[in-house]
Amino acid sequence: MIRHPDHHVQPPDRSAALAVIRAGMLDVLVVGGGIVGAGIARDAALRGRSVGLVEQADFASGTSGRSSRLLHGGLRYLAQGRLRLVRQAGREKQVLRRIAGHLHLPLAFVFPAWQGSPWPLWKLRAGVRLYDLLCGPPAAESSTILDADDALRLAPGLRTSGLRGAVRYFDALTHDARLVIDTLRSAAAAGAVVVNACRLEWAERDGDGWCCGLRDTASGAALTAKARCVVNAAGPWADRIPHSRLRLRLTKGVHLVVDRSRLPLAEAVVMTDGPRILFAIPWAQRVILGTTDTDWPGPPGEPRVEAGDRDEVLAVVNRCFPEAGLGPADVLSCWAGLRPLIADRRGGPSDISRAHRILSSEPGWIDVAGGKLTTYRLMAGQVVDLLERRLGGGRVACRTADEPLPGCPDEPPRAGLEPPEVHEDVVRRAVRQEWALHLDDVMLRRAGWHYYRPDRLEIAGRVAGWMARECGWDQIRQAAELDRYRGVFSPIE
Ligand SMILES: Cc1cc2nc3c(=O)[nH]c(=O)nc-3n(C[C@H](O)[C@H](O)[C@H](O)COP(=O)(O)OP(=O)(O)OC[C@H]3O[C@@H](n4cnc5c(N)ncnc54)[C@H](O)[C@@H]3O)c2cc1C
Repeated sequence: MIRHPDHHVQPPDRSAALAVIRAGMLDVLVVGGGIVGAGIARDAALRGRSVGLVEQADFASGTSGRSSRLLHGGLRYLAQGRLRLVRQAGREKQVLRRIAGHLHLPLAFVFPAWQGSPWPLWKLRAGVRLYDLLCGPPAAESSTILDADDALRLAPGLRTSGLRGAVRYFDALTHDARLVIDTLRSAAAAGAVVVNACRLEWAERDGDGWCCGLRDTASGAALTAKARCVVNAAGPWADRIPHSRLRLRLTKGVHLVVDRSRLPLAEAVVMTDGPRILFAIPWAQRVILGTTDTDWPGPPGEPRVEAGDRDEVLAVVNRCFPEAGLGPADVLSCWAGLRPLIADRRGGPSDISRAHRILSSEPGWIDVAGGKLTTYRLMAGQVVDLLERRLGGGRVACRTADEPLPGCPDEPPRAGLEPPEVHEDVVRRAVRQEWALHLDDVMLRRAGWHYYRPDRLEIAGRVAGWMARECGWDQIRQAAELDRYRGVFSPIE
């Protein structure tokens, strides 16, 4: 263990990783530890490149730990004519079933059609047929057409007045933050060096490569790294990174979690609000409700769920399930995230394309943004193909579609992707093998108890004690970690 100037003890692998990043010329430095950066680090490392990845906060603490957690082709994009995106995402959904089976839970969606809605039954019927054609699901997951009675059986409590029937199609539920962590574990196993709490502050051309100024935010120390190529995968921050040529339009989306007894769904339901669609997604004994889509004009920062966002989601749910009568007191937990969309001033937030963009306007510098959690592997593959051209030396083919992530296929998905039992072993593993530095790294992202368990404060107390033993925290540090964690769920504003 190494004692840093702030007297926080760091696990030894972190300081060793920082030493490697400082030491010599990397082939690639990836900036951003969300799903896109993690995917790029994994792909490049599997092709034999020397890779460093720096993340300013915690891995998956940006958008990639705040999504709807769906691996999906995006049925609604069909209505916008974005067939290519649907096809790509549909294929990637199947790849993820193969390489991340422990984080891929097939989930049926009931999409009801009400009289007078912009989503009439004929349109839904045609939509799911095309969806099947583009996404090629296994036979057991082909779409079906339901009459109103069948729809009510699968989605009890659905508004009956004007209900014309429904369609039923399949996508999959995942755990977004775990997907990032497991992708990074795979990257690290292939030789990538990944460091959280390390921010890129500046970068300048240096001979044939780049010299990058980093800040270790755990100790406050400055360091430099040299790399032949740099990839900016900073998500919502990507247009603020030095040398970036990206222009983003950020939109905020929120999710609420309620107990499943308050909305006893057998399957997921697509809830419509005029042209917009929201989801009610069963997650073990809970239901995830969301999402909204509103412009976020400011810098990325820390988006919060505001009372207006919460009321907007609850109003849609209560319109679709009139007897549910959900109110603010039913909300067990919530999160808000920012979509890093490629700037397009035309149309409302929901109309902006979810396609990704890759730019390389200076030698050895690549910017990447947009896309979806579902399409991260595809984006990573395209970026690393570009890197390979730049780095030369005999191109190696992408292997990420065939190499399973750690945990797959040995670990079947826990029932409904429920978080693990609260246990010291889980916490020890998070600290020793998964780079957890703070209490909220475990509660929110590694284990996910924060969003699932109503007794999370009591759990946090126990976890802080276990982390204290593991990391050598004193009483003051433990109290500071609990304060920091409580700040995460200040009441909805
Ligand atoms: C509400 C919502 C719902 C969504 N639902 C889905 C869904 O169900 N399915 C789906 O496929 N997609 C979904 N998405 C989209 C998906 O979540 C995003 O496309 C994806 O997570 C973006 O990943 P990323 O790696 O680009 O960004 P991020 O996850 O934000 O990662 C970027 C990282 O870069 C770091 N960083 C920034 N600046 C620096 C710096 N200077 N130095 C070091 N690190 C830095 C940040 O801290 C951050 O962790 C959803 C998005 C939102 C907002």
